[in-house]
Amino acid sequence: MLTNSIDRVPIAHLPTPLESLDRLSDHLGGPRIYIKRDDQTGLATGGNKARKLEYLVAEALRGRADTLITGGAIQSNHCRQTAAAAAKYGLKAVLVLNADPPEGAVTGNLLLDRILGAEIVWASGRDMEKLMQDTAKDLWHSGARPYLVPYGGSNAMGAAGYVAAWEELAQQMDERQINFDSIMFASSSGGTHAGLVVGAKATDSDTAILGISVHLERQKLAEVVTGICNSTTELLGLDLQFQPRDIAANDNYVGGGYAVIGDKEREAMQLFGRYEGIILDPVYTGKAASGMIDLIRSGGFSRDQTVLFWHTGGITGSFGFIKELEF
Ligand SMILES: *Cc1c(COP(=O)(O)O)cnc(C)c1O
Repeated sequence: MLTNSIDRVPIAHLPTPLESLDRLSDHLGGPRIYIKRDDQTGLATGGNKARKLEYLVAEALRGRADTLITGGAIQSNHCRQTAAAAAKYGLKAVLVLNADPPEGAVTGNLLLDRILGAEIVWASGRDMEKLMQDTAKDLWHSGARPYLVPYGGSNAMGAAGYVAAWEELAQQMDERQINFDSIMFASSSGGTHAGLVVGAKATDSDTAILGISVHLERQKLAEVVTGICNSTTELLGLDLQFQPRDIAANDNYVGGGYAVIGDKEREAMQLFGRYEGIILDPVYTGKAASGMIDLIRSGGFSRDQTVLFWHTGGITGSFGFIKELEF
């Protein structure tokens, strides 16, 4: 394994299932579509952050931390999974959320954060990066030992989880005699994207790794992913260097922007729900799936090709968007 030299703690339910989406494939009339079910990683309802946290929590425990601090949006899946991982390993969780305290009902991931016992710091317009640093400093001064988990768990340590995920998929492809032409997924803070790119490159795969941006402009996302790729290869001792031009990213499906839900996202959620019984979330996987569906409809793949949609989770976040999701 490429990640053998790095400590991990067991958190995720692995390997996640690899399933074929026969009815959706027939409906769209394009390539055969498969799905990798990282919505089924466990850890307080699953998602891609569970794989990253296996490596991040291991590092925190090695440094004898007693508190995990991280930050994100009010419906952050990353914050919810970090709170769950902290609970599992007897650590305290402090979540800096980029919002004002809600006035109405506490729903979706925020409800789960509360159940999981996380302490919440409301940024209320303050600078997130600084507030996370200041929160860490305050904890130090009060005698705690905080470990700062980066946004989205996306540094080299977190991305190692997706290098390992690539190897898990490569074994499933091998067992089932499939070679995907393209893998598509939602890309945001870049750790998932970087891990898959490094894994594919390190194993000389010809599968295209295409991140569908959920908010960043293409060039910016490629730069972020490149940076994480290069720190990940360094961490793993791999002799590989990446440039932004090596990163495939598509920003045509950002729509109204981060967590803005439009007809395209709703249609993708309906197609996956009604043809396959699979629930997508509106912020990440709904956007990414709308991109994949559009690429298929516009003839981006031939019928004899095989593609993979990597489901990265987020379903509980849907309950934070009930008004926007009236079907
Ligand atoms: C965080 C997240 C992503 C994006 O993963 P990154 O590694 O941050 O790019 C995609 N889908 C869901 C559901 C997420 O929570």
